[in-house]
Amino acid sequence: MNADLERLIRLQRAETDLRRVEGELSEVPRRRADLDAALAAEKARLEAARQELAGGQKARRQHEGELQDLEAKRSRLKGQLMEVKTNKEYTAMLHEIEAVERDIRAREDQILSEMERGETLAVEVKREEDLYRQAEERHRTQGRALDERARALGEQAGRLGAERDAVAATVPPGVLELFHRVARLRGGVAVAAAQDGMCQVCHVKLRPQMYVDLKRNEEIMQCPACNRILYYEPAPPVVAAEP
Ligand SMILES: [Zn+2]
Repeated sequence: MNADLERLIRLQRAETDLRRVEGELSEVPRRRADLDAALAAEKARLEAARQELAGGQKARRQHEGELQDLEAKRSRLKGQLMEVKTNKEYTAMLHEIEAVERDIRAREDQILSEMERGETLAVEVKREEDLYRQAEERHRTQGRALDERARALGEQAGRLGAERDAVAATVPPGVLELFHRVARLRGGVAVAAAQDGMCQVCHVKLRPQMYVDLKRNEEIMQCPACNRILYYEPAPPVVAAEP
């Protein structure tokens, strides 16, 4: 094979691998942000559950205070009941006491339902705390895995970049210039295999004589359609199906 063609193939492989690695590296910050967002969402659910529980407890304390006031009022009214002078006053005061007792029962019912609700909310907070602990653990594990992946990708990128530069340094300037020009126009892919009489990237059918010449891999030839530098790659052997 033409030595420059062989170098270009290696150069393209290093470039393509480097692009893939750099592409994945550039995804790392977004993936890290996704991990942080998942943890923050779980934290927000826990905080909401805690707030709801605290809100219920506050309402209950307020109703308990009101209940105490009502009970004090009832005692006071019952004391005054002994001091009234007329039947009419007595009846009026009894009605007043009955009204206070209705309020007391209503408050007691409220407090009871708040206690029941508080128990449900406390279970919910406990559940959210468990979920948050799990989310923290996931965040730690996945964060470490992502760090590890980023480190490996960084190393790979360094190695591929050095390999690319080393190969590029051995390619004659004119050929390298052609490579870069085609790469710029063709999404970073300047070298394409030819197989079955076709350019394997743009799939244009090559003229028979050109394909015959290409098969020798002795000169730098470009695809007439996409301009990529072509090299011949024999089709992989067909594996016979087992009888
Ligand atoms: Zn082509």
